[in-house]
Amino acid sequence: MTNKVAIDQDFCQAHGRCYALFPDLFEPDDEGRAQVKNDGVVPASSSVDEILAVCPEAAITTV
Ligand code: SF4
Repeated sequence: MTNKVAIDQDFCQAHGRCYALFPDLFEPDDEGRAQVKNDGVVPASSSVDEILAVCPEAAITTV
């Protein structure tokens, strides 16, 4: 199973759920859209399924 994620900027609506709940993995850009930190590598303490489920726009994808 992959342990990296990315953001599809075409779908991100800048709700901020991802970087509020997973600040080690995501951060906002200047417009509040999410971008990955650390090349999108999922921390061992987090589950990929849990991370994908946090985005209501399905903008978080595995890579
Ligand atoms: S939860 Fe989804 S829509 Fe909201 S900022 Fe994160 S990637 Fe963008």
